[in-house]
Amino acid sequence: MPGPILEARGLHKHFGHLHVLKGVDLLVQERELVFVIGPSGSGKSTLLRCLNRLEEPSAGSITVDGIDLLDRRTDINKARQRIGMVFQSFNLYPHMTALGNVALALRKVQGRGRAEAEARAREALDRVHLADRAGHYPGQLSGGQQQRVAIARAIALEPRVMLFDEPTSALDPELVGGVLAAMRELRESGMTMVVVSHEMGFARAAADRVIFMDGGRIVEQGPPAAIFGAPQEERTRAFIGQIE
Ligand code: ADP
Ligand code: MG
Repeated sequence: MPGPILEARGLHKHFGHLHVLKGVDLLVQERELVFVIGPSGSGKSTLLRCLNRLEEPSAGSITVDGIDLLDRRTDINKARQRIGMVFQSFNLYPHMTALGNVALALRKVQGRGRAEAEARAREALDRVHLADRAGHYPGQLSGGQQQRVAIARAIALEPRVMLFDEPTSALDPELVGGVLAAMRELRESGMTMVVVSHEMGFARAAADRVIFMDGGRIVEQGPPAAIFGAPQEERTRAFIGQIE
């Protein structure tokens, strides 16, 4: 059996005196969709940001696809390409088309020539059903379409793992479905995913495992039916009770 594609052990993160991650172990198997829930401030974003080294963990180890992310000898820019990330805010360049935004990452990060970058960018946009919007600027796209462009930008780099931090939280309700559908398709294509979100319906339908975090620790984890239907820990019960 292959080992986990993403393996974080004993992760701690301090911001000054604030101890935000207090020993998190997270193993993610290939093709697994891990869904992370927990109260605001529990450390979910910090965990994701540590996983692709947007934040430097204070202690612990992270291995992605066999590469030690925290080893000084690891080329972090190369390693980071194995981990795509999508944020609540889409961060597209407003003066560039959808195609331009996706192609830019391929040119800057992977050093591809214009023609190849654009061909790959078109393929990525096609995967999120935006091939017909390639020439549109962000301002001409809905929030949901912009987020799908951001997903295309990430998957164009062919990551091994995709991290999503509240990808639909900034969207009007009617636009959420399209983004979740794109994520479902990505998952069905075999992508390994870690998703922080409040979309519990999506978790029930698509997650292999749900992790509940509180106070910088993983309090409880299990299949969605178990976590939502029969949580074992009092804190999990209280949280689930609030949101459902
Ligand atoms: P969540 O995503 O679960 O809401 P976060 O990971 O964003 O939680 O934040 C966890 C805690 O860490 C919060 O108390 C937050 O204020 C703090 N925090 C996050 N990022 C920073 C930072 N760059 N500097 C200082 N404190 C931070
Ligand atoms: Mg957060």
